Amino acid sequence: MQGAGSRYQKRLRDLSGLYADERAFAALAAERGEEVVYEVTDHRPSDAAGDLITGVTRMSPGKVGDEFFMTRGHIHAVADRPELYFGLRGRGLMVMESADGQTRSIEITPNVACYVPPFWIHRSVNIGSDDFVMLFCYPADSGQDYDIIQRSNGLRLRIVDDGRGGWREEANPDYASRSAEEVRAFEQILDQANAKAKGAPA
Ligand code: MN
Repeated sequence: MQGAGSRYQKRLRDLSGLYADERAFAALAAERGEEVVYEVTDHRPSDAAGDLITGVTRMSPGKVGDEFFMTRGHIHAVADRPELYFGLRGRGLMVMESADGQTRSIEITPNVACYVPPFWIHRSVNIGSDDFVMLFCYPADSGQDYDIIQRSNGLRLRIVDDGRGGWREEANPDYASRSAEEVRAFEQILDQANAKAKGAPA
């Protein structure tokens, strides 16, 4: 990635509280806490609504207990902004959740595109044994809200090793559904956007 952009790195120790097995996390962090487990490099020409941020994300393989390495996850701060991901290397999942608690886990391998619709919380998970690398692209004014996941005590589903070389979804027992008010607030943004699109001159 060349030109105006940014880069950030997450170390294992930065991910305290993310994983179900806190004891396994503490043991791993004591040993490998300084290790960079995922990093994002992007190209952002501007923050204007009509512009695009494009970048590459890389995540190391690994598990905390039986739960695969994952990103913190977020919803876009401007919640009606979508995102496109494209698999470059490795094997992973895009774990998505709507405000009202619907879920989708989409497997991504090289040359697979994954569209994250507006209003969906998203997190990537490395379910392979190598680095998981994706290209991504989203509107430049989207922003990220990480807090929505903390408020529900994590996402509804956790992604764990199935013990047979694959993955499975496991219900998060601490999950707290979002309030009807919060769900309705997202629906109102969507309704307003649809009304505006319909009213726009052809
Ligand atoms: Mn995003």
